[in-house]
Amino acid sequence: MDRLRATLKRIDGRGYKAYEDIQGHYRGAFFKLFIEHVQPDPFAPPTRLRVQIQGRVADFPAALRDKPARRVALADLLARRLAEALGVGKGGKEGARGTFSMSAGAQTIIPRTAVMLEEDTLEARLTLGLPAKGRRILGREATALLCDRLPEALESSLLAKAHAPEALEAWIRSADDRLALRAALEDRGLVAFVANNAILPRRSGVDDRPLVAGAVPFQSPASLAVEIPLPGGRSVRGMGISRGVTLIVGGGFHGKTTLLNAIARGVSDHIPGDGRELVVTLRDAVKVRAESNRSIAGVDLSPFLGVVPGVDDTADFSTQNASGSTSQAASILESIEMGSRLLLLDEDTCATNFMVRDARMQALVPDEIEPITPFVDRVRPLFEGRGVSSILVMGGSGDYLDLADRVILMDGFRAEDVTARAAEVARVLPTGRQPRAHRGFGGVTPRCPDPGSLRPEKGRREVRIDVRGRNTLLYGKEVVDLSALEQLEEAPQTRAIGWAIHLMAVKHLRSSDSIRQAVEATAGEIERRGLDVLTPFPVGDLALPRAIDIAAALNRLRQFRVRRPPPVQQDA
Ligand code: ADP
Ligand code: MG
Repeated sequence: MDRLRATLKRIDGRGYKAYEDIQGHYRGAFFKLFIEHVQPDPFAPPTRLRVQIQGRVADFPAALRDKPARRVALADLLARRLAEALGVGKGGKEGARGTFSMSAGAQTIIPRTAVMLEEDTLEARLTLGLPAKGRRILGREATALLCDRLPEALESSLLAKAHAPEALEAWIRSADDRLALRAALEDRGLVAFVANNAILPRRSGVDDRPLVAGAVPFQSPASLAVEIPLPGGRSVRGMGISRGVTLIVGGGFHGKTTLLNAIARGVSDHIPGDGRELVVTLRDAVKVRAESNRSIAGVDLSPFLGVVPGVDDTADFSTQNASGSTSQAASILESIEMGSRLLLLDEDTCATNFMVRDARMQALVPDEIEPITPFVDRVRPLFEGRGVSSILVMGGSGDYLDLADRVILMDGFRAEDVTARAAEVARVLPTGRQPRAHRGFGGVTPRCPDPGSLRPEKGRREVRIDVRGRNTLLYGKEVVDLSALEQLEEAPQTRAIGWAIHLMAVKHLRSSDSIRQAVEATAGEIERRGLDVLTPFPVGDLALPRAIDIAAALNRLRQFRVRRPPPVQQDA
């Protein structure tokens, strides 16, 4: 580090370009610092730093990192502590001169490249906007940041001795608990579990932290309560939602959407104190909504869409501009194509004509001229024929009451099991509607990606992949709207999705591969080799996405084309 101090002293006051001289690696008291890419000017993307600490120097007890899930949780905690120690988010915005930045995450624990814990090394990645006055290097400020502030922050965050052992253990225990809960879901045929006392409401639509004032903790109705054992002889009680068709009903503003959203986000792990840390859902669950204007590439929509004027074949349906109902049908079929076992639908964000079609409308508009088979006619065949469960929020239509395996009423944020009452209402007040399409759900036709359709280049750049926040992926020349992927937790996941699509395109698109095979092969490679396989050089702002979300993004690329798989050769 003395060498770095000397260089900064020498270039103090010179033009910004001279910062290039600090590129290289340096040995600190207990760490190695790699200054990898120095920004060419004050307004370019900030300078990338990498720090390595030997495992035996960091000295975290083996018991805290002896399983993959524990390593992920510990690395996640260390990223948060380092970001705090560096004042990330406190100063100017990312890349501002004189500020450190890191993608340490908010409410979610997830494998990320900000801090990575390997067998014998700990690596942290961050950026620094190198300080300048106009275009003159501020060498003394840079020295204070790189040679004093950074080592102090590392010492107070990345070494075991800086942490209270109980705090570390509690964090890891919480990760173990979620692992146990996820295993219990599978063992008991549950699709979701919401612990008693969980805090589900968020502070606001743009603030994912728990609501503090006046939050009513969740309590399971007695009839749906399950007790799940946790490691160390403990256990947790809460609401277990079994496979099948589940309705969440209730008046407006009684907490239906809040419950469904917590379940939707239960595919990811949340930090202790989030309120949802003991809410878990099958990892492959998909929250499906109506979208306007999404593209669709060769999806077989026939389970939901019959003969449509102007469309040759709804079994091979492509559009650049899907309607609400069509987009919703496509999203459901794409989710099933990827093996989802649980669909989550909220009336707030569903297309009404996709969800229901009541007796009166059936009487007025004959079946022959209505191409849509509404979800109400498909929700049971979907479960019985394909094992796909549904949880639906439905405050406005009673047509689903006959079809539900259980009905949960939200009343003043309190959940009540009204399954028996709902069955009684359904008996006394029949809907009078004619169920349609009582054949099974049928198959979902797999699609093969067309490798030539994915074009990541833009202008002089061979590969242009970037994000604008969580909801917008930039892929080649295209701006992809991912706001319908409500289960994405953060922008680094979106970034990883963009690179994963690229990895898939260059490596995993043998001609016969279906979308599912290609995406799963890609996700498998990321799992085996780590997130660094995605980018040409190591970066600190990637986080692991779900395979099903990679596919969901791919399905929304307007340039994406598919081919039907070649027919299977039958033996004579
Ligand atoms: P619904 O979907 O039934 O209309 P929402 O889930 O949108 O209701 O909730 C309405 C409002 O109540 C939201 O502002 C939400 O944050 C708040 N809320 C939801 N659940 C709780 C709770 N358990 N405690 C306190 N406030 C809550
Ligand atoms: Mg609602």
